[in-house]
Amino acid sequence: MKKTILIILISLAIIFSLAFYMSSQDDETKIINEIPKEDAQYDIVIVGAGLSGLSSAYNLNDYNVLILEKENRAGGRVLTKTQEDINYDMGAIFAYPDYIVPFAIESSELIKESGPLGLYYNDKLYFCDSVINCISQTNAMPNNDYSLKSILSSNESRDILNAFFQTIHPGEIEDYITERQEDALVKYENTRYLKGNTELVEAYQNNINAELQFNSTVTSVEDLGDKVKITYTQNDVERVIFTKSAIVTTPSYIAKKIINNISQASQEFLDNIKYAEMTVVAIGLKNNNLENFSYLITPQMTTSAIVNNYNDEKNINILLAYIADKNSKDLTNKTDLEITNEVIEILQTTLNIRENDVLFTDLVTWPQTSAVISEQMLKDIPGNYNQASTRIFLAGDYTDLSSNFPYGMSSAIKSGENVSKKIIEFLKK
Ligand SMILES: Cc1cc2nc3c(=O)[nH]c(=O)nc-3n(C[C@H](O)[C@H](O)[C@H](O)COP(=O)(O)OP(=O)(O)OC[C@H]3O[C@@H](n4cnc5c(N)ncnc54)[C@H](O)[C@@H]3O)c2cc1C
Repeated sequence: MKKTILIILISLAIIFSLAFYMSSQDDETKIINEIPKEDAQYDIVIVGAGLSGLSSAYNLNDYNVLILEKENRAGGRVLTKTQEDINYDMGAIFAYPDYIVPFAIESSELIKESGPLGLYYNDKLYFCDSVINCISQTNAMPNNDYSLKSILSSNESRDILNAFFQTIHPGEIEDYITERQEDALVKYENTRYLKGNTELVEAYQNNINAELQFNSTVTSVEDLGDKVKITYTQNDVERVIFTKSAIVTTPSYIAKKIINNISQASQEFLDNIKYAEMTVVAIGLKNNNLENFSYLITPQMTTSAIVNNYNDEKNINILLAYIADKNSKDLTNKTDLEITNEVIEILQTTLNIRENDVLFTDLVTWPQTSAVISEQMLKDIPGNYNQASTRIFLAGDYTDLSSNFPYGMSSAIKSGENVSKKIIEFLKK
């Protein structure tokens, strides 16, 4: 009898705890399900905390703004790393120009590489003060006509010019509009801030009022007519929030994936954008009387350019090797170590570095380094291309078409400024 009572009691306890567990599960589900019934919690939700997202937020400081960022840091393609107490940029590399910053910023020391350009071609190292001067020293040109057209007409000189081009743009030169192809002929000033470009990102973070949530990957942005529904995953939990409007600042192909019912104008614009990738390998090197140069072009190697960052206080060079689009994609089956070793071999051949002098290495691949600025990208752009729906807007460097150069920190910041004007106009209606 006692045994039967005990069994009944145990069964009841199990039933009660099961019921309690299920009701608490119900409550949890309810919490998540109840949120969608609420009104818009924010004026604007910004997807992405790169410079375009941060610039949008800065210009919307008077509104209730949330930024959702998938990484655990802000900055996107601005990424400063530190080793041996030296900062170096694995993303945007040259110093940001002061005039693009809309608030007072105390930048660190500006450093400028003083050396000439370098070109390693047919087993020989040339130094020169201009791109044309480099090409002319190699005899790669069949004639003395150094116009863009003529340089591109010979395979040898074309390859040299293409490598110069890839210091700035990761794609193949012919895929870009003529105005951009001419960027290949410019000798760029290799300047950087001692603390790297991340100090600009930090300055933005200090100057915005928006709430910023990291580790939050947005999976869908949907205009419901009277508000926008944002679905995102944060620490493996799916969440839903509502907002009056949204700005999507991710690279175009992600924008295309996450925005539902996109306008035809935006769809056409996004469909015409193709990205080129870049792998960046950093090699920290004890200075062993390394030649002084600003950047070195290596058209016959896996790398296209080696950018020199010399730290005179520590007598260390950080060489940043750029592996552009096609060559970068060819490395898919190689490990980071194999790629790094290949770069070290290239540096041994071109600059005679010694393996023993390597202090540290680093590698980042950027699958979407930049949009290829092609005729196709800029062709017949519909007027409202950056308004994906009534309440959803696009920003990002690739959306700044004002100067036919929709790429770079300046474009990212400008795109944030432009989109925020549109949003303010919309919210005032
Ligand atoms: C190797 C390299 C060198 C460069 N050199 C220069 C240079 O010298 N000078 C210059 O001006 N520019 C340079 N650039 C370009 C410059 O870095 C970019 O143009 C600029 O940073 C782009 O900013 P953005 O905000 O438009 O995009 P991004 O920086 O790409 O920002 C987009 C953000 O969205 C986030 N995101 C993506 N998907 C989601 C999602 N689903 N949910 C939430 N968040 C998401 C990303 O994590 C990222 O933080 C360089 C770039 C690279 C890669």
